[in-house]
Amino acid sequence: MSTRAVASEPQAKAAAAGQKLLPVEEARARILAAMLLLDCERIPVSAAHGRVTGEDVAARLSHPPSAVSAMDGYALRSADAEKLPVRLRKAGVSRAGARFAGQVEPGACVQIFTGAAVPDGADLIAVQEEASEEDGIVEIRKVPSPGRHIRAAGLDFKAGQVCVPAGRALSARDVGLIASCGHAQIPVRRRPRIAILSTGDELVEPGVEPGPDQIPASNSIALAAAVASWGGEPLDLGIARDETNAIAQAADLARGADLLVTTGGASVGEHDLVQAAMRTRGLVVDFWRIAMRPGKPLMFGRIGELPVLAMPGNPVSALVCAILFLRPAMNRMLGLADAGPHFEPARLGVPMKANDSREDYIRTRLERAADGSLVAHPFTTQDSSMLMTLSEAGGLLRRASFAPPAEAGENVDVIRFDLAAGRL
Ligand code: AMP
Ligand code: MG
Repeated sequence: MSTRAVASEPQAKAAAAGQKLLPVEEARARILAAMLLLDCERIPVSAAHGRVTGEDVAARLSHPPSAVSAMDGYALRSADAEKLPVRLRKAGVSRAGARFAGQVEPGACVQIFTGAAVPDGADLIAVQEEASEEDGIVEIRKVPSPGRHIRAAGLDFKAGQVCVPAGRALSARDVGLIASCGHAQIPVRRRPRIAILSTGDELVEPGVEPGPDQIPASNSIALAAAVASWGGEPLDLGIARDETNAIAQAADLARGADLLVTTGGASVGEHDLVQAAMRTRGLVVDFWRIAMRPGKPLMFGRIGELPVLAMPGNPVSALVCAILFLRPAMNRMLGLADAGPHFEPARLGVPMKANDSREDYIRTRLERAADGSLVAHPFTTQDSSMLMTLSEAGGLLRRASFAPPAEAGENVDVIRFDLAAGRL
């Protein structure tokens, strides 16, 4: 980490001009290296969907707890079924939740239903369709091999067995499994608290009628939604005016958060004051400016223990930075082994020109070809202020820095938004 003195505007511009842009991978690695694992809290399993396990979850119970029938039918002794058909006395009934308490004696059988305990003495289940019952006598015409239609105790899992490992983002399937393991509460990582601050004199809170030259602040809304869907807790710090004191005071409100995200004012313009404002609070800059389009002026640093990601203000740049840096940072805090982002292969639907030194993240439509592969059709206009194309896009197409010209049909990597939008 390097410390910067508060630089004047021309000095900052000169420094920016002379500075080598950090590659995207390296920027992400530096952010991830600075993230601390969050502590755990115990929560009800009913609230655990989407949360990340803080410890291995071992079964408290076996499932099933004893041998049970997988079919409706009759439980009998295989010794009684050597010659078929056979007529057996019905000694009782075993239902799910209410087992037959006695032994199955020679010459007897017990009617049994799916999920009911196999009574002692029985080792065979004849299915209902192969039996008929009259006046307490059951005729059995056909039986399967012994053991068939019987679920052994612990077939699914045994008490003590780890069913869900630490560091898993829990799906609906997982929470069902954990409930069946006999847990009412489990330890999960605390949600990362992400403070979000918008900066800009032109911004009004969404819903407030903008004056001349004003626009609604959309970044906080989009980022808060993204943070929540990625398992975090957004903390909206509102809008700070383009004024050093206002920004510094708003940033003070991030105390207690796990990370502060700012948007706007990140560049080298006269009104880009975020770094200067936060330096008055002891900001130490790790890096500023990355070899990426959109998102070049991204800054990462810390104020004391608080990591700070200062993003550009253009809505597309902010969202792309969130997908590429904020979500992985949150995943690292949550203890997920693979912090992402996750790329998928696709094919180009159109030819593309050679790229320059900055890695491009291009809004693209994604279609399925007849062979099942994804085909990317990038939007022709990529201005980073354009929210419509961001909303309509299926994902982001990555073009490596200095990528040569590409023909339609060539392989590329994409990030799909439906996957980036959260885990279900
Ligand atoms: P800046 O990074 O402050 O130079 O802002 C770049 C562009 O993004 C400007 O056109 C701003 O109006 C716009 N912008 C900044 N913050 C927001 C925001 N929170 N919501 C929508 N647009 C924004
Ligand atoms: Mg601004």
